[in-house]
Amino acid sequence: MKITSVSAVYPRYRHVAKSWRTKLWQIVVRVETDAGVTGYGYGGGGLAAVEIVNGHFKELLEGRTLDSTADIESLWDHLYYESIPYGRKGVAIMALSGVDLALWDALGKAESTPVAELLGGVKKDRVRAYATGADTDWYAELGFSAHKMPHRWNGSPGDFDSAIASAKQAREAFGPAAEIMFDVYMSWNTEVAVEMAGRLAEFKVHWFEDVLTPDDLDANAALRPLVKPTRIAGGEHEFTHIGFADVERAGAYDVWQPDITWCGGITAGLRIVEMGVKAGVQVVPHRGGEVWGLHLIAASDCQDFGEVLPGTRDGERDELWMGEPQAKNGYLAINDAPGFGVELNEDML
Ligand SMILES: [Mg+2]
Repeated sequence: MKITSVSAVYPRYRHVAKSWRTKLWQIVVRVETDAGVTGYGYGGGGLAAVEIVNGHFKELLEGRTLDSTADIESLWDHLYYESIPYGRKGVAIMALSGVDLALWDALGKAESTPVAELLGGVKKDRVRAYATGADTDWYAELGFSAHKMPHRWNGSPGDFDSAIASAKQAREAFGPAAEIMFDVYMSWNTEVAVEMAGRLAEFKVHWFEDVLTPDDLDANAALRPLVKPTRIAGGEHEFTHIGFADVERAGAYDVWQPDITWCGGITAGLRIVEMGVKAGVQVVPHRGGEVWGLHLIAASDCQDFGEVLPGTRDGERDELWMGEPQAKNGYLAINDAPGFGVELNEDML
């Protein structure tokens, strides 16, 4: 089939936290074909990425052939190459991610098969989910067996106590067999992380995430042995297999966390997983419980671990994609609908 039209739009979010996300959160990419199927993808980069798709990628894609996964791979390489002057990382690759996922969705729909089947077939019938957020007790009630808590270093000694209190609450709510993790969003430093590893040792924290910035690859690598057996996780702010090659060379993380809607889509994700497996690290995609990562986890050698963000017990949420798999008793499963198996909520456009 031929690609007839490509367009991106920024949804009308009502529940996005005020921050860089206000105008630079997730985009929807639509790819139409002459076979009558339409593919939808989810990318990052907000209004800037919409401009990149509609102002540049569109003209590179319309009229091109889309009949195989090899076609998607060569289209990805073409868009990457053509966007090098302003791209390589960040918003341009977030835009490319949305396009890539829309191409995979369109191909799956044209072949009446889930994306996971295009990737070689489902290896995990169900994926263990972990709940990220601050509503610890609620996630335990929902049946999750793994939980990641936010923590921020504000510069006071009380920050150690707040981490200990969170870990204690999580251990009590989830029990001894659960995995508990901390995401510190680049607010700790090496000294804090080493001190935390000691003070939190009794709680057996599975990983510390985003301890240092992604520009400190060597410092991340140096930190790994200092906090064992807790792992160092990172990579949600890294882009493409080319970026992850630097991560690998530095030995920066025990756990790689590419975001499939940011790092270059499924096409880049496959290359990153292959590299990670060879390097002997664990690959646990960021927000991997959403369909875009979940199909890759189910069909690849990613860890059996998918991130879900349930929000809070009484919180309201935007529902942009309808039909997304929901965690049941702490597990997720993809459905057998073609493509990614979700429908766009057009009311949000
Ligand atoms: Mg994170």
